[in-house]
Amino acid sequence: MKIADIGEFGLIDRIRRTSRRKDRSLLVGIGDDAAVVRLSASRSMLVTTDLLLEDVHFDLSYTDYRSLGWKSAAVNISDIAAMGGTPRYCLTALGIPKGVEEQEIVDFYRGFTMLMGREGMVLIGGDTCASRSGLFISVTAIGEARASQVLTRSGARPGDAVFVTGTLGDAAAGLELLQSRNAACGMRNEKRKVPKSKTACAQLVNKHLRPVPRVKEGRAIALSGCASAMIDVSDGLSSDLAHICTQSGVGAELDGRAIPVSASLKRLSHDLSRPLLEYGLHGGEDYELLFTVPENRLKKFFALEIPASRVGTIRAGKKLLLTDSAGSTRELHPRGYDHFANARK
Ligand code: ADP
Ligand code: MG
Repeated sequence: MKIADIGEFGLIDRIRRTSRRKDRSLLVGIGDDAAVVRLSASRSMLVTTDLLLEDVHFDLSYTDYRSLGWKSAAVNISDIAAMGGTPRYCLTALGIPKGVEEQEIVDFYRGFTMLMGREGMVLIGGDTCASRSGLFISVTAIGEARASQVLTRSGARPGDAVFVTGTLGDAAAGLELLQSRNAACGMRNEKRKVPKSKTACAQLVNKHLRPVPRVKEGRAIALSGCASAMIDVSDGLSSDLAHICTQSGVGAELDGRAIPVSASLKRLSHDLSRPLLEYGLHGGEDYELLFTVPENRLKKFFALEIPASRVGTIRAGKKLLLTDSAGSTRELHPRGYDHFANARK
């Protein structure tokens, strides 16, 4: 069978089943945002790695090297945040095409260390080689957490409330603006309309190029002891909620009216190709946190005033349902990014 026939997540599951091996220190292995390894009775290490490939994850015609460095750090730090951990160290491996300038790689590391420094992280190693086909970036992040406070994707239960931090859809809309060359808000406008607000446009583009991982919020959610499951929104709300549902063996119902979208996205809604709700539901790369809180812990959770919006409820079964603005409910099919499914089209 071709990999394209089983898709990215089918392949990961196959890898997991092929390499299954018990290890008493391994608390969480393949299948979550980061692996969790027990270090002592109370402490655990979190480890995650992500790959960024030129022309798959980024396009150097509209991404500057500094932003690329920032984002390469952000996507990994976000996976540590999604477990409720504190990011500590990272390693970077680069495959660099021969034509790249030294200054461009220096700029990459300026962006990378800007975010790493903000989070108090240290770069401890990596690998460098020449690439024959595009820039290749692999980052591994290492974090720590109390073993008892780690939040996985598998703890959601029917009745739990579903919350998300921040707003959704900005990064996907920002990418669309960049691709349509409207990013500079009129600088290089071609056939499409120039968006009305330069500030709103810049905010969406910035969210795509320089997402800020929700480390502080992730830690606060984990420390509160209120949440039952958590994931970061990298593929999009529908897909990432589906990951929580699959791992927890549950379904969920989303309230389309409650999905938080930014004022900038609303402002630019007429310049975008799809209805606003589509960005909130399926747009990827916002790196917000999606988490669930059991009903009997809601009061305590609200008292902590962690900024988040309730977007739905976990249900029994397997289905993902969406209630729209007219109040009617229909089945929702996740539409996030699957590398091999996309290759198949
Ligand atoms: P995320 O979007 O949070 O980075 P992914 O969807 O990339 O997560 O990965 C899901 C899970 O599968 C993670 O636990 C990751 O470590 C694991 N995984 C992905 N690819 C591989 C692989 N080639 N070998 C082993 N584990 C993998
Ligand atoms: Mg993740």
